[in-house]
Amino acid sequence: MMAKHRLQGQALKPNVECLPRKQLAALQNERLQKLLVRLANTSPFYQEKLAPFRPRLYSVNSSTLKGLPFTTKADLREKGLEAFLTLPKNKLLRLHASSGSTGKPTVVAYSENDLALWAQMTARALGSIGVGPGVLVQNAYGFGLGTGGLGFQLGIEQLKAIQLPTGVLNVEKQFLFLKELKSEVLLCTPSLASALTSFAKQTRQSLADLSLKAAVLGGEIFSPSLQRRLEAFWGIKVYGTYGLSEILGPGVAHACEAGAGMHLYEDHFLAEVIDPVNGALLKETQEEVEGELVLTTLTKQAMPLLRYRTQDRVRLTRKPCICGRTTARLVEVKGRDQEAFMLNGHKIYLSEIEELALQFPELEPHYQIVLHPILPPTLQIEVNPDIQSAELRIQLEKALEAALEQKFVGAHFQVHLFSPHILPRFEGKAQRLQHFKDTVKKPLSHNCAAPPSGRAVLKLDPIEQ
Ligand SMILES: [Zn+2]
Repeated sequence: MMAKHRLQGQALKPNVECLPRKQLAALQNERLQKLLVRLANTSPFYQEKLAPFRPRLYSVNSSTLKGLPFTTKADLREKGLEAFLTLPKNKLLRLHASSGSTGKPTVVAYSENDLALWAQMTARALGSIGVGPGVLVQNAYGFGLGTGGLGFQLGIEQLKAIQLPTGVLNVEKQFLFLKELKSEVLLCTPSLASALTSFAKQTRQSLADLSLKAAVLGGEIFSPSLQRRLEAFWGIKVYGTYGLSEILGPGVAHACEAGAGMHLYEDHFLAEVIDPVNGALLKETQEEVEGELVLTTLTKQAMPLLRYRTQDRVRLTRKPCICGRTTARLVEVKGRDQEAFMLNGHKIYLSEIEELALQFPELEPHYQIVLHPILPPTLQIEVNPDIQSAELRIQLEKALEAALEQKFVGAHFQVHLFSPHILPRFEGKAQRLQHFKDTVKKPLSHNCAAPPSGRAVLKLDPIEQ
């Protein structure tokens, strides 16, 4: 489908987003000094953590920051909210919490100024893609403890655009709103975007009546292949957005029109990239580096964090972007450990598998990986409905297995193709990594009723044998 008329965005803060790097570093250092004073004097956690560094604390700058300790998710869980506060409770306006999908939820606090900062950051992100007065934004991120829906709401309101806060709603209704109210911008997870695509194809919806011009995808990792498919199918521009509740929520980094990665808002967040194993700061080669992203909040007030280990494996570049911004870009976000598994010495991220699988036009972005204690991991993925021949499906399975084994040398995979609309759809965050025991506890059988080539997960399931 041809791209429709696009929204015209702008860098809302060209004075900071296009600063020469030296000036940006000076601004970061000035803010870092104030942050360190604040942390060392007010937060119980950092008072203790930074005590050994006090003699030289106030001369730390962005290049000597590596000598200071990290903050981890485990610290947030173990020490609790109050240990991190740098403001009294009567100055707090909002609490949010992580989903807790990997353990105890982590709670974060916002002051009035923090909410204003959040509004400014999400407005900067959405404003840069053309959201403004009169533009209808369908906000399909979750509203509640998570930060997606309410974080973007602040930015939409600041931009005086029109918000349709659908939140997490079933696919059919999301599509109905897109169509009936003519939403121009959709904010959602990549999983919902894929599920909407599947719904539109299955029910043979005409897209000609839609007014959708852009989608902002976040909350989970997605591949460039998926982005290209969504742009082609819907005739829209797709932007990636990045954030995490511990740091702010959405509004930490956002893609620009050039499609060259997500620009970090470095005037408020200081980024480092470390070796995830030993924590050493990694050196940049030709202004690019790959490792775990570490962020320091420079201007947050209620609960600022120093050197927070995001657990996100990223590729970061500080090369100037053709859009004119000088800020660092996340050119690739591979994901977190929860979205990866080890196989033959390779750490394999789901985003890497998705990128490879979707290079086969016959395959659809509905997939999951089943990990088995003995057998090779199984990639279950749906096939395009036009592919009816059993012989062709087997050829595709073999071709994808070979492609995976070529990319991850020495690692063996099984690929099982499924008929369309068999595997689970996700209206919020996807859960694509399944452990074999989970498939016994929560039978996949209802999702796998029609194995296309007689080679499906059912043969792995002892219940079915
Ligand atoms: Zn750019």
